[in-house]
Amino acid sequence: MTEITFCPTCGSSNIKKVKRDLSRIVKGQRHTVSALEFHECPDCGEKLFDAEAIRKIESNSTSFAKPERLKITVCPTCGSDKIKLVRKDQTREFEGQVYTVPDLEFHECPNCGEEVYSPEAVSKIQAHSPAYKKMAKKKKAA
Ligand SMILES: [Zn+2]
Ligand SMILES: [Zn+2]
Repeated sequence: MTEITFCPTCGSSNIKKVKRDLSRIVKGQRHTVSALEFHECPDCGEKLFDAEAIRKIESNSTSFAKPERLKITVCPTCGSDKIKLVRKDQTREFEGQVYTVPDLEFHECPNCGEEVYSPEAVSKIQAHSPAYKKMAKKKKAA
């Protein structure tokens, strides 16, 4: 599994793996996925779900058939089934530095604006982020 060392949204290295219940309202019904493990950024509130977490969320949604392989059909934040896979250049900002991650594939929810990144997408973001370069430099110096 890809190690997530910093938040792809704000570049914070405070992002950490948490394990807790995640509640969502789907079609007026509350669904709770208990003891879900995911990464959460305390600085911007970004949540990152890995393949296992998404599978757990989806298997909890009785209205959806269990996918054979990882395929995101419901938004982990609002439960909307309008979420879809998009592929585009994504411009992000880190400490005032704008950078572009070309041809990034991720799931975008038109309902709540949630962006869900696969571990592959996260490593692609990390590879392009100035935060990563900074961190790599720091590691070398240490
Ligand atoms: Zn963040
Ligand atoms: Zn959503």
